[in-house]
Amino acid sequence: MAMTGSTKYIFVTGGVTSSLGKGIISASLAKLLQARGFTVTIQKLDPYINVDPGTLNPYEHGECFVTEDGAETDLDLGHYERFLDVPTSQANNVTTGRIYQNVINKERRGEYLGKTVQVIPHITDEIKRHIQALGRKGIYDFVITEVGGTVGDIESLPYVEAIRQLKWEKGRDCLTIHLTLLPFLQTSGELKTKPTQHSVKELLSLGVQPDVLVCRTEHPMQKGMKEKIALFCNVDATAVIESRDAETIYDVPLLMQDEGLDQVVLRKLGIEVFPEADLAPWKDFLRRYKHPGGEVHIGLVGKYVELHDAYKSIKEALEHAGAANETKVHIKWVHSEKLTAKNIAKQLGGLAGILVAPGFGHRGIEGKIEAIRYARENKVPFLGICLGMQCAVIEFGRNVLGLEGANSAEMDANTPHPVIAMMEEQKKIENKGGTMRLGAYPCLLKEGTKAFAVYGKKQITERHRHRYEFNNAYIDQYRNGGMLPVGTNPQTQLVEVVELQDHPWFVGVQYHPEYKSTVAKPHPLFIHFVKAAMAAQGAPTEVKEQAKA
Ligand code: GLN
Repeated sequence: MAMTGSTKYIFVTGGVTSSLGKGIISASLAKLLQARGFTVTIQKLDPYINVDPGTLNPYEHGECFVTEDGAETDLDLGHYERFLDVPTSQANNVTTGRIYQNVINKERRGEYLGKTVQVIPHITDEIKRHIQALGRKGIYDFVITEVGGTVGDIESLPYVEAIRQLKWEKGRDCLTIHLTLLPFLQTSGELKTKPTQHSVKELLSLGVQPDVLVCRTEHPMQKGMKEKIALFCNVDATAVIESRDAETIYDVPLLMQDEGLDQVVLRKLGIEVFPEADLAPWKDFLRRYKHPGGEVHIGLVGKYVELHDAYKSIKEALEHAGAANETKVHIKWVHSEKLTAKNIAKQLGGLAGILVAPGFGHRGIEGKIEAIRYARENKVPFLGICLGMQCAVIEFGRNVLGLEGANSAEMDANTPHPVIAMMEEQKKIENKGGTMRLGAYPCLLKEGTKAFAVYGKKQITERHRHRYEFNNAYIDQYRNGGMLPVGTNPQTQLVEVVELQDHPWFVGVQYHPEYKSTVAKPHPLFIHFVKAAMAAQGAPTEVKEQAKA
């Protein structure tokens, strides 16, 4: 922490409405500071009572992002990692549920020495402890803390109170950025500032004066508007930042740089001497991303496809891989529940690659299996992730090895062929939250395989989130039949990667490669999958003709 002397705490709150993109603004500011040579981490505080988002249905808050240390976290942590290329951990995501659980556990242990345990100071102290835990590591110049929800919500009150207290205690080491919306009135053709004024008033009533206002807007701010907001909200006009809708989230760091967000933040935190930001690699990524030399169409088969956020990391990983290959990846979102043997050729025909997504429960399973059969038989490049890999194993068992009724024990407890079965240590677990096989595990790849060609090395580590596994009782049958287990866990011999011998590119992985794809390091598995799709599409062979048939 040579550059700032002490850790600086930046809080990002939201006003007027939810979904304004606090995560992207936080990640963009972090990127700008990192590009100046500072060390930065970002943390998300979520005001809901779930202990973590692992038990949430993806329809609620989108995908659950898994960290190296096996924390099930909010999808914003995915943005943080993709922007910064630095791993996050359990400490980077805290919910009200966890805060209360910790406080109640302490109370049960008698740690409050007979005191009445209250929201203030005990809950707020626990929140402050979590905020500062990252700073205390002594490695970060900046800890950016994003508070979920909208200021004024009952459930976010303790967080705003914790910010008020920390600002009081730490003075110039703290700064608050408030993100608001400037609605556009079509009839009068005007942007309106009143909701921003009211939102700041709300924050002021809780004792917090924002230092910087970032205003989301669909249209350029009119002349004098920054001054007007500054006057009503007690901030400098230079600290009113316009945040126009961007073509892609990856433009936002550059837009924020143009608006001087990082400059204002540094100035207000009293940091006068700092290097210029080096965004050359970021700009290089954007150039490849925005000016592709070709295009490729990939089908993403899943049961939550109406809500793209449910597959956020997969979508972003495909885009990173597209940029790496200088090609535009078009995703066709295919609903697995609607796929049947009858409509499959119509639904998937013409696609250059098929990705079958992770998931839980039996809904949409048979459609996923049909999609895999189609990819296998028509030699369409295929990537199966977690449940997608498990379905590939089921499909191969049923349709190639003749294992009638083969299934995962998750879908059919009485299947005659449980080719996917529950791990022994999972069988005794009763609680749902945080009990899966989670986080990073090593995997050994066999030389001479596609997987080895992808990674270019023998030992890899990838992140997991599942309860079921390839059943090793069937391993010889699969190997002899042509579905090869090419990656295994060196300690447990659990199968992590399978691939088809007789296919241009068919890979199933038990882990989640999507969590590790970043702008700086697009994931090799996605890069090679997109490359295989480009090759399949480029070649005027029977592959393409069959895919269209
Ligand atoms: N439901 C499967 C399991 O628990 C797959 C999980 C996943 O796709 N993340 O093993």
